[in-house]
Amino acid sequence: MSTPRFSQREWNAAVRTLTVLCPLPSRVVVRRIKLPEGLYGDCDKRRGCFYIRVRRMVDMHHSFMVLTHEWAHAMVWSLYKDRDRDHPAYYGVAWSEAYQALFPSNA
Ligand SMILES: [Zn+2]
Repeated sequence: MSTPRFSQREWNAAVRTLTVLCPLPSRVVVRRIKLPEGLYGDCDKRRGCFYIRVRRMVDMHHSFMVLTHEWAHAMVWSLYKDRDRDHPAYYGVAWSEAYQALFPSNA
């Protein structure tokens, strides 16, 4: 399932959907930008604010998958202070929540 192109409006709507259905306790800044080769996204927390970066890609499904992946990191880091492990089992639960928020028909 992939789409060749998508609009900034669709991207903004996806971010709004996650903000409503998977709220974070801190401010979150999401940027869709050019990233170094091999890096599709990342999530960081600095001074109480989450910063999510997603590689600028033409494929909407891939972009949204990266967005939900990084959003789930922020959800987990909101609940657990331990950031030593990137993808513990409970990360999967958070990612599932984010995925279902954007792809409800696939839930
Ligand atoms: Zn990850």
